[in-house]
Amino acid sequence: MMQQPVIYSVNGPVVKIRNTNVFSMMEMVYVGNRRLIGEVIGLTDTETTIQVYESTSGLQTGEPVEPTGAPMSVTLGPGILTNIFDGIERPLRALEEASGAFIGDGLAVPILDTEKEYDVSVKVRVGTMMQGGEAYASCPETAAILHLCLVPPNLSGKVVYAAQDGKYRINDEIIRLEDAAGRVHSLTLCQKWPIRRARPAAKRLPPSRPMITGQRVLDTLFPIARGGTAAIPGGFGTGKTMTQHQIAKWCDADIIVYIGCGERGNEMTQVLEEFTALKDPRTGKSLMERTVLIANTSNMPVAAREASIYTGITLAEYYRDMGYHIAIMADSTSRWAEALREISGRLEEMPAEEGYPAYLPSRLSEFYERTGAYETLSGREGSVTVIGAVSPQGSDFSEPVTQNTRRFVRCFWGLDKSLAYARHYPAINWTSSYSEYLDDLAAYYEKQVDPKFVKYRNEISTLLKEEQTLMDIVRLIGSDVLPEDQKLVIETARIIRVGFLQQNAYHAEDTYVPLQKQFLMMKLILHVYHRAQELMQEGVALADITAIGIFELIIKVKYDIPNRQPERFRTLTQQIDAVMDGLRTQKKEVL
Ligand code: ADP
Ligand code: MG
Repeated sequence: MMQQPVIYSVNGPVVKIRNTNVFSMMEMVYVGNRRLIGEVIGLTDTETTIQVYESTSGLQTGEPVEPTGAPMSVTLGPGILTNIFDGIERPLRALEEASGAFIGDGLAVPILDTEKEYDVSVKVRVGTMMQGGEAYASCPETAAILHLCLVPPNLSGKVVYAAQDGKYRINDEIIRLEDAAGRVHSLTLCQKWPIRRARPAAKRLPPSRPMITGQRVLDTLFPIARGGTAAIPGGFGTGKTMTQHQIAKWCDADIIVYIGCGERGNEMTQVLEEFTALKDPRTGKSLMERTVLIANTSNMPVAAREASIYTGITLAEYYRDMGYHIAIMADSTSRWAEALREISGRLEEMPAEEGYPAYLPSRLSEFYERTGAYETLSGREGSVTVIGAVSPQGSDFSEPVTQNTRRFVRCFWGLDKSLAYARHYPAINWTSSYSEYLDDLAAYYEKQVDPKFVKYRNEISTLLKEEQTLMDIVRLIGSDVLPEDQKLVIETARIIRVGFLQQNAYHAEDTYVPLQKQFLMMKLILHVYHRAQELMQEGVALADITAIGIFELIIKVKYDIPNRQPERFRTLTQQIDAVMDGLRTQKKEVL
């Protein structure tokens, strides 16, 4: 008879067992007398290696390890939204209530509320044939989101029982399906899915629509597609967290999955408080109604941090399959990579660059690979967009996590220490940042916003590049030598930087700017630039144009013209034209 497997060694979160073959790879297990949650991460003829998701302090050799026969999974069902989970989807609020201020080890608290009743509409009848991914019921999960209960992807069959519409709890039976082999499956409002396996979809769709963030430097200069990937690398205090908060608050995704990974705990408390208080422009309710937080902060066990991004993306895929668009914020993927490094070190694996395991790139790629816009198994359209913060030590972008992330993401929003220091926010460097979605999204901007959007965007971008080149010359020999038209380029680039790229997250109007206003702002800046060029060709001096204060006026347009009054751009342009025409008359009079 097989003996109960017992612990042979404990090394931080890594536990080993000898001479056993009862486990399988990626299986979830209970470790020790306290039944800590663990996962099998290594299996040889002589040894089983387990990473433990809870604190192993006090764990002794000789304590038992119990198999569960199932892979490390998350529970999917109504009750995910508004919740805050740890890296393996344990509900932090419920745990706190059950255990006081400290999260007890091995505490068994149900993942989702099992008592709460949902108003369920059953969509199928006895006799209906169902395929994986099709919806058999729906219920309002929150005021913002209708939850669809989907047949698990790997199951199909005939409905042999269907409940009446009514109030149900997540473990109540809603339908029974009989599969082709005659086996009957009972489906409730919830189901499980292994975190390390992507949920299947029918097909991947090309990126064609932007995820609109209301942040000018992103939407206009470096846009991200729905289903796209972006990295925000930046040193300490450059604004990674702030940028992710802004995107989470304002972007046009249906659902936000916010993963706080290895950062300070008070930041997650802040997210929770702010998102709860924020009146969501889309629903008029709290933003938390369509948000789920995953918190594995710096004080929590390192292995659960490693799992947290898989937990997050699995929850996102689940809502994607209902036909929603999800935005994931992961702050920070560097702390996740550090968790990977720590565990790898405990496993005595051969380290690669800077001590990170050789499989760092493949893990990063697997994560970003699970994003995308998809046609779901039941023909809906849904997407998962990921924005990952990267925190390179000392803002050194040549380090392995930044470099490897760059290979797998298509938007690179590089934060710049000197911009942050100069209080140019968001401190996104317009020279080193890029978006590979520009071509994919051009048609959207031209059709949905304005046929000239892309043209203007490119002109703005060119002016910024020209300024860069000119500033190199200025640094060498001073600005006096520059011809007037080049001085105008420098002046216009300043307007673009201060009046357009800088955006104040704390200002009620400026915190979110619709695409239409972003376009009108570009249009106004370029209009004044071209008018100034004309005047100067007619002999008006740049100093005279500067003196009338138009440039300072345009810089303040972001505050002065409210988002809801785009028509004021037209009147302002007319006023500016009149003043500029005046300059020409003065000139003629002098002549
Ligand atoms: P990081 O996460 O990179 O360490 P934070 O996001 O916490 O940095 O930003 C640090 C500080 O920079 C913020 O507390 C805020 O004062 C300022 N900041 C960053 N971005 C903005 C912004 N868009 N608007 C205004 N202030 C900003
Ligand atoms: Mg931060």
